Amino acid sequence: MTTAWMNATIYTGEDFAEAILTEDGRIKQVGSAEDILSSSPDRVVDLNGRFVLPGFNDSHLHLRHLGKQLQSLSLSGTKSIQELIVRSRQYLKDHPDRSRVALTGSGWNQDQFSEKRFPTKEELDQISSEIPVALTRVCGHVAVVNSRALEVLGLDASTPNPPGGIVEKKHGELTGLLKETALDYLGPLYPELTSEDLRSQFQAAFSAAVELGVTSAQSNDLSGSNTQALAIWNLLLDMDQKGQIPLRLTQQLALDTFEELDAFFEEAKQPPSDHLSMGPIKLYKDGSLGARTALMQKDYADCPGERGTDALSDESIRKVLSWAQENDRGVIIHVIGDGALERVLNLYEETEDPSRHGLVHCQISTKAQLERIKEIGCYVLAQPIFFDYDLKVLVDRVGDELAATSYAFGTLMRKGVSVSLGTDCPVEGVNPLPNLYCAIARTDLEGKPDGGFHPEHAMTLSEAIRAYTAESAFQEGHADNKGKLAPGYLADFVVLQHDPFQEKPDALLRNRVVMTVIGEKIVYTHHGERSTTR
Ligand SMILES: [Zn+2]
Repeated sequence: MTTAWMNATIYTGEDFAEAILTEDGRIKQVGSAEDILSSSPDRVVDLNGRFVLPGFNDSHLHLRHLGKQLQSLSLSGTKSIQELIVRSRQYLKDHPDRSRVALTGSGWNQDQFSEKRFPTKEELDQISSEIPVALTRVCGHVAVVNSRALEVLGLDASTPNPPGGIVEKKHGELTGLLKETALDYLGPLYPELTSEDLRSQFQAAFSAAVELGVTSAQSNDLSGSNTQALAIWNLLLDMDQKGQIPLRLTQQLALDTFEELDAFFEEAKQPPSDHLSMGPIKLYKDGSLGARTALMQKDYADCPGERGTDALSDESIRKVLSWAQENDRGVIIHVIGDGALERVLNLYEETEDPSRHGLVHCQISTKAQLERIKEIGCYVLAQPIFFDYDLKVLVDRVGDELAATSYAFGTLMRKGVSVSLGTDCPVEGVNPLPNLYCAIARTDLEGKPDGGFHPEHAMTLSEAIRAYTAESAFQEGHADNKGKLAPGYLADFVVLQHDPFQEKPDALLRNRVVMTVIGEKIVYTHHGERSTTR
């Protein structure tokens, strides 16, 4: 059965067209309305003059965490420590069932607090002195806990810092703040989830993503130990078999020793479907800029003596890279500081085929490093939406000179580097439109600074769409299947209310997805949008 999608402005990723013909989940023809109708389609969908583009492919995010956040205490948007306390108390009251073991929440950011500092354990004691409380910062690399949690976890002033982490102490006493690998101590506060809990978290996340036009997601949900990762992979295989994965999901696997990788792949079955596939190995080299745990080549401009955290040694990464080479897998590494970038570029340069490997975030970079990325030939998974927060701290943290050559995603693309876009959700929301806006405008979501921060590094709208579609598909090895609207490609596309090529960039923030189509199936229609079918 053929379907004609008519009455729209269609951006194929390269060109404009008037109509699409689909069959068996794929695109059969793209062209003028006349051409498509002359093929006598079995079904015609009227798209009301809207704008169509290839479906968004988010190249790095954490859908399981999004699902968890959708079903737990979210502190994003909290404007003060007092508000954090009030919201947490209210949640405890409303959801006693979800706080049996502990109250855990996430999403706060001290730079958005009027106090501009981390909360303390004493402040969290005001939420509860009986129930352990652990609240994770928006980056996922820092958490603050109350006194009861420290007690339950057996942490005290004599607890040493774990390798790659910090249990913060002041005047010989714990402050309640944990950084990087010290967050592993929080494990006992999170109750063992049943596979049904996990399934419902994934389902909540899939729906949220699909409603915002995300037709493909490269999600890092496989983490912890190899057995934990395997349990999640098996659940996803089961969901796939039951048709419970509406979008196309590629999994990034965060295991950082070859023993664990071997153990995982020994057991892991390969999915037979085009809705689930195994992606690269994901490693961390450093932390975040906001928490000053990103690894820098020089001291932080606003914190002399501090250069961030080396989260995984070069030697450990080298071992995983050689495992990947033997096992024909790619590797992507979280790098935010220029120090982390430098070390990872050195490591990639040693490998046989650096084009297999990617840089996740790639935020702080020197001019010379931009050139090196091109020469070495690895790819970049970028999140321009980080501008909304990072522009508040960027120059303070790294100084003017380094800031001027950082987040240079448009420049990298024009040098010929493959740059894809993603949100790192739930660090940021999963909505692609504000992300596109930040890529083009290089401002925060309020449009500051005027004219954009170093606009020479901005992407054009068509570059940003390409990064969000074709480049994402290229990086996951699906370049001949996804990322543009052309004959033979999967019929994955998104219908927007307005044509962004006809509007100013900030109109993207008011535009919206009115329909999402995956494999020719309408998987989402905005309430009130009529698409007459005959
Ligand atoms: Zn991430």
